[in-house]
Amino acid sequence: MKSGKQKRAELRAKRTTAEIRSHSKQPEVRLRPVLGPPVNEALLAPNNSYGAPDFVHRGYYVDRPFRCVDCGKEEVWTGTQQKWWYEVAKGFVYTTAIRCRLCRRKKRERSAESRRVHLAGLERKARRKPEGSK
Ligand SMILES: [Zn+2]
Repeated sequence: MKSGKQKRAELRAKRTTAEIRSHSKQPEVRLRPVLGPPVNEALLAPNNSYGAPDFVHRGYYVDRPFRCVDCGKEEVWTGTQQKWWYEVAKGFVYTTAIRCRLCRRKKRERSAESRRVHLAGLERKARRKPEGSK
């Protein structure tokens, strides 16, 4: 058998949790669908051109659909990926994604492979002709 005091305390606890839950959820729900990640202009790579790319005017990044130049696949370059590319990787502000994830990886592997072959060639040459010999 619960006393009236206990019941009131339980009710109060329930109400408080519900209030906390609704408060913490609201701002995210309101912002998420409209705005992408905000643009931090100070972090962008410097560029000498007049004017600014559209995302700087807008103030935030939006998802950009594009078609891969290698395989023709449709992919989305997300706002988060753009923020990383421009502000962390310091990509030039007028460059955009042109290859899908898979083709990008293939290209990276190809250039890593050719670099490896190139370096191996240099090493072979150096071994054939030791420094100082004629
Ligand atoms: Zn592709």
